[in-house]
Amino acid sequence: MSKHVTHWIGGRSHTGPARRRGDIYDPATGAVTGTVDLAGGAEVDAAVAAAVEAFPAWRDASLSRRTSVLFRFRELLHAGADELARLISSEHGKVVSDAAGEIARGLEVVEFACGIPHLLKGGYSENVSTRVDAFSVLQPLGVVAAVSPFNFPAMVPMWTFPVAIACGNTFVLKPSEKDPSAANFLAGLWARAGLPDGVFNVVHGDGEAVTALMEHPDVKAVSFVGSTPIARHVYETAARHGKRVQALGGAKNHMVVLPDADLDLAADAAVSAAFGSAGERCMAISAIVAVEPVADALVERVRERAARLRVGPGHDERSQMGPLVTGAHRDKVASYLESGVREGATLALDGRVHPVVGGSPEGFWLGPSLLDHVTPEMSCYRDEIFGPVLSVLRVPDYDAALELVNASPYGNGAAVFTRDGGAARRFHNEVEVGMVGVNVPIPVPMAYYSFGGWKESLFGDSHAHGTEGVHFYTRTKAVTTRWPGSGQGGVNLGFPTNG
Ligand code: NAD
Repeated sequence: MSKHVTHWIGGRSHTGPARRRGDIYDPATGAVTGTVDLAGGAEVDAAVAAAVEAFPAWRDASLSRRTSVLFRFRELLHAGADELARLISSEHGKVVSDAAGEIARGLEVVEFACGIPHLLKGGYSENVSTRVDAFSVLQPLGVVAAVSPFNFPAMVPMWTFPVAIACGNTFVLKPSEKDPSAANFLAGLWARAGLPDGVFNVVHGDGEAVTALMEHPDVKAVSFVGSTPIARHVYETAARHGKRVQALGGAKNHMVVLPDADLDLAADAAVSAAFGSAGERCMAISAIVAVEPVADALVERVRERAARLRVGPGHDERSQMGPLVTGAHRDKVASYLESGVREGATLALDGRVHPVVGGSPEGFWLGPSLLDHVTPEMSCYRDEIFGPVLSVLRVPDYDAALELVNASPYGNGAAVFTRDGGAARRFHNEVEVGMVGVNVPIPVPMAYYSFGGWKESLFGDSHAHGTEGVHFYTRTKAVTTRWPGSGQGGVNLGFPTNG
């Protein structure tokens, strides 16, 4: 039976008609399994109005009331994780265990937000002047919005809303239209957790809904996660409309393998990080930088491991890699194999002929692919492919590796594989990215650190979750107090100083 996904506004499913709808696919079969309503200005207005109405009471809800809702949400999410993972897999294509992994990482942020009373503590200074005290408080912004990508339909929204809501804001989420159901699942959990109606709202849609959110006078802040061109556009447009913005963009994550590295460990890590979730991860390793003389030995180890990966439907627990999210995306990713070879790379492993176990031939399949002898001018290196294509670049020494990584316009993450502590330290000191792994391929920071890249991987100055998330979703007020006794007043036109 075909499903229908609609907006969640003011604590219930939207009942109005939809001017436009999008198709939802099962990537493993290529079949349309449902439709999603695409919001225009009217639906966005309704969601923001619900959030505006809910704000005064939620802002004033005690910290213990807020945290008790968060703790209940955490329990419900924990209990519903299997169901949610299957739902994500059915629309995104990733294997269920991988979807469970993204839920677990999102849960970490919920748990971080459960500690909000501690995180919202301001400062207090007695006697900043004679019998004058000062303190600071962190207050919520009001209605805040988040726009999320298709690749993590649960985790990326959870980078934002647990912290935003814990801080006392009300929230409008605009998830990806490609896999919209996870957002409604999470909305249902909030309702069961006792979150007041209107504190968490979902509008489905595409660029039209995002434009309406960015231009809405009642939206105070926008968090965006997606590709670099749209991140830049969202940053510029929302800022022009007076909003606080954090816009996380695309990535090209390098893994530098130094000559002294354990090549088996490095190959295991490269294959896991390049082909997990079919390469549709912002922290995927998409480029190996092999410092000679290791390239031949490393490429052979990676090729041999990748060739053995079992590709099949996400719901089959024996599958290690599922299909790509849409047919159009699969075709675009596959086109880089042709252009790579045309531009001089060697195709060491061709995912177009990789066996698929189960699923239907109409699914959006592409197996793991390996392009060797890639150079920085090639489009397969310059572009973010966002699929199961791993490029290998060969460099003569550490300096050339660092120069290559730092020349990339992207700065999300990078990893170094070595047994030399000094070389690793030099790398994490000198590399120009926001997140670094040392013998760790996907250095996604824990919830109590913040997630975000540098350069064209992040527009704005605030990373997601952790204390930077708390700062993003609050504004600071400094209060100076004086309680003079009678006769302690008096007119003084001098500029106040601390006497
Ligand atoms: P995308 O940029 O196509 O879409 C992201 C969101 O923007 C979606 O909700 C989409 O509906 C919306 N959107 C689409 N067109 C728009 C427009 N013209 N104006 C405003 N909004 C618009 O990204 P995607 O394909 O869903 O996700 C993959 C991308 O996200 C990759 O580039 C990946 O690197 C990036 N990503 C980055 C991070 C990070 O932390 N930096 C994390 C996850 C994904």
